[in-house]
Amino acid sequence: MKVITLEEHFAPVAVPGLNLPKGLPPLEKGTNVGAAWLDDPSTGAEIGPKRIAHMDEDGVTVQVISTPFAQGFGPDVALDYCRKINDFLAEKIAAYPDRMKGFAALPTAVPEACADELERCVKELGFVGTLIGNRVNGGFLSEPQYDPILAKAEELDVPIFLHPGEPPQAIVDLCYSKGLSDTVVSSFKRFGYGWHVDPGIHFLNLILTGAFDRHPNLQIILGHWGELLPYYIDRFDDTLSAEFTGTRHNPSYYLKNNLYVTSSGIWTPECLEFCVKRLGVDRIVFSIDYPFANPRGKEKILEHPMLSMEEREMIAHGNAERLLKI
Ligand code: CA
Repeated sequence: MKVITLEEHFAPVAVPGLNLPKGLPPLEKGTNVGAAWLDDPSTGAEIGPKRIAHMDEDGVTVQVISTPFAQGFGPDVALDYCRKINDFLAEKIAAYPDRMKGFAALPTAVPEACADELERCVKELGFVGTLIGNRVNGGFLSEPQYDPILAKAEELDVPIFLHPGEPPQAIVDLCYSKGLSDTVVSSFKRFGYGWHVDPGIHFLNLILTGAFDRHPNLQIILGHWGELLPYYIDRFDDTLSAEFTGTRHNPSYYLKNNLYVTSSGIWTPECLEFCVKRLGVDRIVFSIDYPFANPRGKEKILEHPMLSMEEREMIAHGNAERLLKI
């Protein structure tokens, strides 16, 4: 079966002309995160034969590749770095046109430059959307200076992947640090829980600020089975209804019409079952989260006995093909 994954990453340490810290961010052994990365740290930066070998081993036909680190760039370098990263990615994936696609890195530290860079990436480099490491200068994409990004994504009909990023330090201090060792905090604030909650809040912020009413065709992707949101759909409608908030629709409408969720290396069959029931099978896109997640167990999703063959094909590649027009 053809398999398209769209939460697959690279670290831009090999991109020429970037002054980044040497080496890759540390990933702690024992957290079961960083499978390929921990085995061979060079996998994180490589876009070539090693990646293709992993894809073949994991049964992946097409990777949509992105870097989640661009939101850490300051305004002095963001545009230059993102252009270099996007050009580098485009050049690398051009060697494997049937196996690799790209999501643009956007210089959100320079909001006014983002829409043009997204358009350049889609129209000139052939990218199929953008991935943003959640917080933009500490805030959310609903703020007016970022609206051109939402408008451009809608105009180009490409999705925005709201990927986890480091929560602001104030949130880390308040929520993820009390009474804990630095080691535990390093996971708890990030992949342990903190950076899953934050993109979910970001999506709710887009709903409540009317971003989807201004941009009704905007499509957002959240990883990790929707970053906890599907669990609360009825609660959102009860407590944040359209009547109460002034939005055009109840929250459940936006969760079912403006959101795609990925499996992101969480091979829990019940997560799949729940999301199929609450969001619909046409809103689920398979992803591994290379090179961070361990692909072992992915058949629990792709071959779930609840799914018909047609539904398996939708989750494995059909929904991604429709969303990304590939
Ligand atoms: Ca990821």
